[in-house]
Amino acid sequence: MYAGHFAAGLAIKARVPQAPTWGVLLGVGFLDLLFGPFVLLGIERAHMTPGISPGFSLDQIDWSHSLAMSLLWSVVFAALFVRRGRIVVATIAFAVFSHFLLDLIMHPGDLALWPGSTTRLGFGLWQLAPRGWWWFELAFILACGAYYGARARALGSFGGRWMWAVGLVLILHLGNSPWLAPTA
Ligand SMILES: [Zn+2]
Repeated sequence: MYAGHFAAGLAIKARVPQAPTWGVLLGVGFLDLLFGPFVLLGIERAHMTPGISPGFSLDQIDWSHSLAMSLLWSVVFAALFVRRGRIVVATIAFAVFSHFLLDLIMHPGDLALWPGSTTRLGFGLWQLAPRGWWWFELAFILACGAYYGARARALGSFGGRWMWAVGLVLILHLGNSPWLAPTA
């Protein structure tokens, strides 16, 4: 999942408005922020698979995305917010871990229990539905966006710009559509 993570972030922010927006949005993408440098450093491996959904194969992402490491990263990142109180810490930790839960739906069995574990999780919607996954993620984004918008109106908060935030996530999702992916 890609844009959907940020939609989840908006919903989490809407649920717990006292959690800092930047912390929530960095949190939902934190595992992918680790994945990039880990690949560059050779700690993790991925390669492109043009024409085969989703266009890449995540060969070894145990240090950023395994269940155990996801939990650990959730605690590590949330610890940065300890001065803001227990609710914010729990919210940020959940934001980071939400990444694992959402990836679990999409990824084709590449999420290890812990680094090196041969037990790998993932329902594999990317491969089960090479185009359907996009509609699933769109529905998720719309549901989160509707919740965020409803909370923004009810609380009179988020600077009255909730539509821009939801629109930006939708644009990200359009840019990630399987119809734009290179084939062959
Ligand atoms: Zn990820």
